[in-house]
Amino acid sequence: MDSKKKVFSNTSPSLAIVEVNPNNNKAVVPIEAPIVSSYNDRIRPLLDTVDRLRNLNVMRGGIQLPTIVVVGDQSSGKSSVLESLAGISLPRGQGICTRVPLVMRLQRSPSPEPEIWLEYNDKVVPTDEEHIAEAICAATDVIAGSGKGVSDTPLTLHAKKAGVPDITMVDLPGITRVPVNGQPENIYEQISGMVMKYIEPQESIILNVLSATVDFTTCESIRMSKQVDKTGERTLAVVTKADMAPDGLLQKVTADDVSIGLGYVCVRNRIGEETYEEARVQEELLFRTHPMLSLIDEEIVGIPVLAHKLMLIQATMISRCLPEIVRKINQKMEIAVLELNKLPMVMASSGEALMVLMDIIGSAKESLLRLLVQGDFSEYSDDQKMHCTARLAEMLNQFSDNLQAQPQAAIEEEFLMVEIKLLEECKCIGLPNFIPRSTFLAILSQHVDAIHAKPVQFIKEIWDYIELVLSSVIGKCSDNFPQIQSAIKRAGRNLISKTRERSVNRVTEIVEMEKLTDYTCNPDYMTSWTLKTASQQNFIKAVLYDEKKPKSFSLPGFGDVQISHLRNYHAHLLQQAFDMKMRISSKLSRSFAATSV
Ligand code: GDP
Ligand code: MG
Repeated sequence: MDSKKKVFSNTSPSLAIVEVNPNNNKAVVPIEAPIVSSYNDRIRPLLDTVDRLRNLNVMRGGIQLPTIVVVGDQSSGKSSVLESLAGISLPRGQGICTRVPLVMRLQRSPSPEPEIWLEYNDKVVPTDEEHIAEAICAATDVIAGSGKGVSDTPLTLHAKKAGVPDITMVDLPGITRVPVNGQPENIYEQISGMVMKYIEPQESIILNVLSATVDFTTCESIRMSKQVDKTGERTLAVVTKADMAPDGLLQKVTADDVSIGLGYVCVRNRIGEETYEEARVQEELLFRTHPMLSLIDEEIVGIPVLAHKLMLIQATMISRCLPEIVRKINQKMEIAVLELNKLPMVMASSGEALMVLMDIIGSAKESLLRLLVQGDFSEYSDDQKMHCTARLAEMLNQFSDNLQAQPQAAIEEEFLMVEIKLLEECKCIGLPNFIPRSTFLAILSQHVDAIHAKPVQFIKEIWDYIELVLSSVIGKCSDNFPQIQSAIKRAGRNLISKTRERSVNRVTEIVEMEKLTDYTCNPDYMTSWTLKTASQQNFIKAVLYDEKKPKSFSLPGFGDVQISHLRNYHAHLLQQAFDMKMRISSKLSRSFAATSV
């Protein structure tokens, strides 16, 4: 175990940055000072910044950070490439091994003792280098079940150790078209949906893993990465299994049939039980000595070159995306601060509580004033029922129409017959051109009785509406204090019910007063009466003296009225009845107008 650990830690960051010696012999040697300092000065701060942001979980808040996403068809060697980069064992092999997104966070650490732990579903599981593969398999079973199904809940592997490049990569399940036994029918849709979700953000760097043994143009992963990165400017291809298909590999990568913007890197991963160091030595040997593979440009072969390229690409991506990330964070922060300001203050004493209560009452009063009096509904522009002045005007109009509507009995009544019958019943001593007061009051009282319930009903509806408005306004003003909302609303309802009772009594009183008196101080009464009685002479003439004996007479304010039934009455009775009708109708229309106001 000890010897293995030693080997792992020797997989130094030098893997990430390789020196090529002048006699063209590549060798894995420690990094020279200038490169280290340039890396430390320029790249390190960028990586640290992104790292801090990642630790703050900004991605959960919807802010994308530059991330390397590993995609490839099943068994193309994705997990093997990650293993080679990190120098740690991951579950790998034939069939589907990676069934959840594995976020691998490699962090270089000066400490010789590596720190490795898994994080998923808010759980942290410490592990060590030897047991990583097992721990990942166990965590995968917890997340995606023990079958062959997949899940898009990510599993994060943190590895802080000496000798790893500072990169964060996501290993995704391999793309497969045909479900195997125990896999759901829609496995392709599930996996491709997951892959798309990770490669779609412009901040993602796509590491497309292609096996040298296949024709690149048929790779599903190429088709998918092309959908989100047409020009390939954020796609880097890694060609694995160079040892298995060395022939024609040079042509494949130089022809670039599938246009990979960031280029190709050919690698040979660990095979079987090789140690990581052995694997690197074998890889170096392979590309240096193989008759076909040695022809490939040394700038694009080997895991160390890949690690170096990835770090540079990642750093470039970070510097490109950082301004936008900062902008998004500031935007989110502004929203958060606004929300924070809306939160209730902490109340420590009853004095403070009273102040808050007074504030709520004060702002509710202001709102009601704006809504009910000033007609300013900007606070509730989307809620029509809170556009109070308009709704109240509508209710008033409806009430007025309802009040003016003639009861059915009155429509069916023959014109002037009510007045004539009552006049005949109230015989009294008086001059013929004076109408008897008792008759007038009797008719007036009949009319008021017919409508007396309407204003009372109306005023109740108005208060119901105001209660509704008050409840909404109080609810909004005390939104942050749910504990007192019901009490304030109850107080509001009590207040309204008392005021409603007073209003109803007042309206009933006004209606009763209208019954008792033939008095009005409304100047419109005289105008209306004068207008209406102007046609009196013509009316009498048409009823009694017109030889053509017309059946109807057109009366302003009444329309065409039937008159044939009036011919048997005396002129003076007709005059009195007509006069009375006009007075009553002038008085009533004025009184109703007064009640509705
Ligand atoms: P994944 O499904 O894409 O994650 O593929 P794996 O990393 O699990 O690899 C699938 C198989 O290919 C494993 O048995 C690996 O050992 C093997 N493999 C990966 N890379 C290489 C390579 O460069 N050379 C050889 N010979 N085998 C490889
Ligand atoms: Mg895998």
